[in-house]
Amino acid sequence: QRRIFSGIQPTGNLHLGNYLGAVRNWVALQNEYECIFCMVDMHAITASLLNADELRNSTRELAAAMIASGIDPKKNILFNQSQNPDHATLAWIFNCVARLGWMNRMTQFKEKAGKDRENASLGLYAYPALMAADILVYKATHVPVGEDQKQHIELTRDIAQKFNHDYATELFPITEPLIFGTATRVMSLRDGAKKMSKSDASDQSRINLTDTADMIADKIKRAKTDPELLPDTAAGLEGRPEAQNLMGIYAALSGQTLDQAVAVAAGKGWGDFKKLLTETAVSVLDPITSEMRRLMADPGYVDGILREGGEKARALSAPVVKEVYDTVGFLRP
Ligand code: ATP
Ligand code: MG
Repeated sequence: QRRIFSGIQPTGNLHLGNYLGAVRNWVALQNEYECIFCMVDMHAITASLLNADELRNSTRELAAAMIASGIDPKKNILFNQSQNPDHATLAWIFNCVARLGWMNRMTQFKEKAGKDRENASLGLYAYPALMAADILVYKATHVPVGEDQKQHIELTRDIAQKFNHDYATELFPITEPLIFGTATRVMSLRDGAKKMSKSDASDQSRINLTDTADMIADKIKRAKTDPELLPDTAAGLEGRPEAQNLMGIYAALSGQTLDQAVAVAAGKGWGDFKKLLTETAVSVLDPITSEMRRLMADPGYVDGILREGGEKARALSAPVVKEVYDTVGFLRP
């Protein structure tokens, strides 16, 4: 039996990378598996402390975006992380399981901490241990993620293995990553070598789910390209990160394979291709954006869903935490 856990940070607007690399695949999974979808607000403050009203609002907006994208809150558990303190409790124990050597290899920390590492928060460093706790506090067997999170899933497996080994138990499953399809790593529109991120300072680098059709058109128009023509075959995209990215986005949005997308675009100039890409993006995103606006008009509705989800989540994690306490030797008199 599979249990799926997926987390997403309310650090800002959901973007096309999150949608194609994550949320869209989650929608497909909910029909087959028991799914837990978590707005990880405790992760959201690791890079820098946020304005409280903004964080609350981003959390609601993210939940609305997920529901608008097709996640059914009745069928799944949808909640924000901080409502269930079991995540933080297990994370502390995992801080004591994970080794410094393991944490030092995490590329996300290196990227997010940047040059000024002395000034990065301890939370940013410990982020992967909290993520392991998010997953294992529900004994989740599978985690759908983009390429960027693969290393953190490997760390989650290492933590589970060490815990199981050191306490001679089989308490935790060894979680598998689920990586899907054509858009597992959508890149920035400004730099084909950087992934599209909520936390990128440039709003021009990403297409947000809340962008209007005009904004989408403008961002695609200004997206970085190269001076060459579009290729006739997918192999011709090699060594051309910007072309590869835009073609990959077009393929994923239009439901075509990369080969099919290249064939459709072959012979077109960049201008015409960008128009086609814009039309495709708007037709996919527009219904989601309008549904999101409708949901956000009644924040009480979204809050009710998150509250109910938080209760259901805690009911699942409470017995696991008890098991962990007994295994570790934390007295429960
Ligand atoms: P931040 O910049 O704050 O880290 P993010 O854009 O990386 O934000 P996350 O909340 O960290 O978003 O990740 C949510 C999910 O979206 C994860 O499953 C992650 O793998 C996926 N994801 C994030 N960015 C991309 C991308 N550019 N392409 C494909 N999937 C992505
Ligand atoms: Mg991220």
